[in-house]
Amino acid sequence: MAILKVAQIGHPILRQQARLVTRDELRTPAFQAFIDSMIDTMHDAAGAGLAANQVHEPVQVCVMEVKDNPRYPYKPNIPLTVLVNPVLTPLSETKFENFEGCLSVPDMRGIVRRFVEIRVQAWDRLGEPIDAVIRGITAGTYQHECDHLAGSLFIDRVEDPRTLCTWKEFSRQHEARFREHVKEIVEHYGS
Ligand code: ZN
Repeated sequence: MAILKVAQIGHPILRQQARLVTRDELRTPAFQAFIDSMIDTMHDAAGAGLAANQVHEPVQVCVMEVKDNPRYPYKPNIPLTVLVNPVLTPLSETKFENFEGCLSVPDMRGIVRRFVEIRVQAWDRLGEPIDAVIRGITAGTYQHECDHLAGSLFIDRVEDPRTLCTWKEFSRQHEARFREHVKEIVEHYGS
């Protein structure tokens, strides 16, 4: 296991479409060690999630976990989740406004509209199928990580660039109102 270097905006790896992983390569000790390193790197950086191309490997793997996260104190907890070759399908047209940040876009946040209910089909880290419905704020995290695997960053989806702000100004100017918004979504969708 190791702490991996996180690519920063401007590095072309972040703009690359990640390739599918085969079950055989997924089950190798080297690939399993890579997934462990992704988890370590996410924990080390206090990220809510991490996609493989953020650590310079263009393969379709992302990891997520939220456990009283200091970067996102209002986010509902997400158990440690590894998605391999994920496909997300929106279950309705309804979207919510999410104030997002990213380990690859330092000191920047902005408002992105995300589907509030999605179906995720993927493999877990052992290649066993995952088929689940994800709702609310957590659905936003899934969409953020899966966008990375398609070479997209949250800033591509910011519809109004005037919502872009530093983390300091987010906490000064926007966090209180956003927390109320998050509370309503969690009350309505359960996560
Ligand atoms: Zn990100």
